[in-house]
Amino acid sequence: MKEENPRRVGIMGGTFDPIHYGHLVAAEAARAAFGLSEVLFVPNRLPPHKKDYPVSDPKHRYLMTVLATITNPFFEVSRIELDREGYSYTIDTLRALSAQFGPAVELYFISGADAIAEILTWKDVDELLGLCYFIAVTRPGYKLSVKLGHLQQKYSHKVFTVEVPALAISSTDIRKRVMEGTPLKYLLPEAVENYIIKNKLYR
Ligand code: NAP
Repeated sequence: MKEENPRRVGIMGGTFDPIHYGHLVAAEAARAAFGLSEVLFVPNRLPPHKKDYPVSDPKHRYLMTVLATITNPFFEVSRIELDREGYSYTIDTLRALSAQFGPAVELYFISGADAIAEILTWKDVDELLGLCYFIAVTRPGYKLSVKLGHLQQKYSHKVFTVEVPALAISSTDIRKRVMEGTPLKYLLPEAVENYIIKNKLYR
């Protein structure tokens, strides 16, 4: 029998190159909006859609994610994709996590709206849609793409959106700022900023 108020766990998937306040505010907003008991950050190892351009060493992205989430008791970081060889397909992660949490727990995969808009192209999407709900986090003024609009219509009970003002911050902009030497302050946790400087990332 299905529980009336099942426990809900958020799975925050991303490349996090680097993690910033937009990601952290988005995870917290999703947690509050959907009554999630916790949010598990899952940095990917080899994003399947980024075969042609390099991302930073997974070790750095993992450590920055740990540093950024350490002060929030509802946040944890998982190594599940980092410890799995090959491309990081979300279906493999969701299969493992749903087996780990069991059928009484509902899983909510949280990520950027542009990423979620593409899920129909992801590996084994039908099975994926049976394993979790999706929360697409958007920036203010984000015009719902045709793809995401279509997804939401077709899977209205499975795909949700949450607007997050802090998502005006982006990893691409932060990497560009490091290259140009413009300030990073207040865009990401100080510990992550110091980690970037110490390890000479994004130069
Ligand atoms: P991406 O294409 O680099 O990002 C698309 C947009 O979403 C960017 O604006 C990005 O901003 C934002 N974004 C990404 N993750 C976010 C998050 N957790 N919270 C808020 N905004 C986020 O996306 P990605 O990081 O590589 O992929 C997102 C997730 O989808 C990952 O878990 C990835 O493994 C998964 N994925 C799976 C498949 C598959 O299984 N076939 C294919 C593609 C993606 P920032 O650059 O500022 O983060």
